[in-house]
Amino acid sequence: MELSKLGEFGLIHKIKQLSSRKTPGMVLGIGDDAAVLTIPSHALLLATTDMLIEGVHFDLAMTDFYSLGWKSAAANLSDIAAMGGRPRFCLTSIGIPPHIAVEQITEFYRGFDALLSKHKTMLAGGDTCSSLHDLNISVTLLGEVEQKRVVTRGNAKVGDRLFVTGTLGDSAAGLEILNNRTRTLRMKRKRSGHGSETSNVPSMFASLIEKHLRPIPRVDWGRGISHAGCATAMIDVSDGLSSDLSHICEQSSVGALIHAGKIPFSPSLLGAKNFLKRPPLDYALSGGEDYELLFTVQPAKIKKLRALKIPATEIGEITRARKLYIVNGMSNKKQLKPTGYNHFV
Ligand code: ADP
Ligand code: MG
Repeated sequence: MELSKLGEFGLIHKIKQLSSRKTPGMVLGIGDDAAVLTIPSHALLLATTDMLIEGVHFDLAMTDFYSLGWKSAAANLSDIAAMGGRPRFCLTSIGIPPHIAVEQITEFYRGFDALLSKHKTMLAGGDTCSSLHDLNISVTLLGEVEQKRVVTRGNAKVGDRLFVTGTLGDSAAGLEILNNRTRTLRMKRKRSGHGSETSNVPSMFASLIEKHLRPIPRVDWGRGISHAGCATAMIDVSDGLSSDLSHICEQSSVGALIHAGKIPFSPSLLGAKNFLKRPPLDYALSGGEDYELLFTVQPAKIKKLRALKIPATEIGEITRARKLYIVNGMSNKKQLKPTGYNHFV
């Protein structure tokens, strides 16, 4: 259905219907001039926001709307996770161009709410506008964290060990595969007028693509780490390991050394190695959107971390010299420059 048939308020009504779970703390949600929300008096309020611009953050030829909704929620949930917080409420602002159908927006909100509901987080409001050409999305997430449990980027200490959850590089490799597939499909269509969606994707790549389109934010792991008081500093890996590590180091006024051989890679990334343009290490260091947690732990607290049974790998340590180094093998030590995604550069 065309958006012009439904209008702004009809669409808002549909969005409200798609997100009608009851949540403690939400006194008033969608439908008034502002949402009315409460958080426990002992908690601190966390607030984060992220924009997703068509052509910059996503390409509608490479994602379905459900995945786009899912990923929009994931990016923000991951930021709350990296503070050690619990996500609670959400606001979404969307600028919609005329060529987008109502069903595509409702699919977006289905994917969005599917991930929010896993984390007992509720859509509390937003704004809906028309846009001339591109689809623009802005998501604001509010969360809470106990005063003593908040984990910032700024408290890593010399001698702390550096850990990362899950595996790195999958999302960037998935994006490359998607890019190749889209290019091949476009060429086929140009030549013969048609090209089938599945013509070019070996199934072994499916999990890399999945990690790019529907990443899993590590909310429970972030809560576990902060609750146990294990981490001195934490960040989510959204711009690539080298960039995100440099943020921790700058904010904490320290340096770091990482061991290339210890960086965790998934069997899928290792399996796809020969089909990709660059080695797995490159995707881990400069590819973004893995949404894993990178955090620092005092050596005395490592036992406590292990007891949480979170899949986290020790990949290096915090140093006094305020530079980043990567060690590859026995003697090959190189300075590491932040090479992740940087807008305007
Ligand atoms: P106002 O004109 O007072 O800003 P709106 O008509 O924009 O109000 O919005 C009406 C209600 O719908 C508000 O509660 C607002 O938060 C909610 N809303 C509007 N757009 C969205 C959206 N895209 N997602 C969630 N809630 C929305
Ligand atoms: Mg408004």
